Amino acid sequence: MVKKQKTKARRKLHVRTGDTVTVIAGNDLGVRGEVLRTMPGENKVVVENVNVHYVHEKAGQRGRRQGERVEKEMPVDASNVMLICQNRECERYGRTVRVGRRRQKDGGKARVCVQCENPIGSE
Ligand SMILES: [Zn+2]
Repeated sequence: MVKKQKTKARRKLHVRTGDTVTVIAGNDLGVRGEVLRTMPGENKVVVENVNVHYVHEKAGQRGRRQGERVEKEMPVDASNVMLICQNRECERYGRTVRVGRRRQKDGGKARVCVQCENPIGSE
């Protein structure tokens, strides 16, 4: 198999591990899950219960005596998932929101919901 070339510019993704996101396109449209892994180099994320495929594992792999097919989440494009606003006062509370970045008093940048300007998750 040919190895995919990773792009050098590592643009930050709008989601990070541990975030709860909703899928907005494809077979798993509307599925909500936690981000298990991010792959900024490829602009992809692995989300719990999203894009689940059978992976055939050979005997001997991970101590298996017999070959087996296991269900495993495969990466999806990061643009196909959206974050959910957890701020109860937000008019889009519990629904998908776009993410912005705002400079904080301490000089750092935090991800915010563009609707209510409240920080999302922890940064
Ligand atoms: Zn919000």
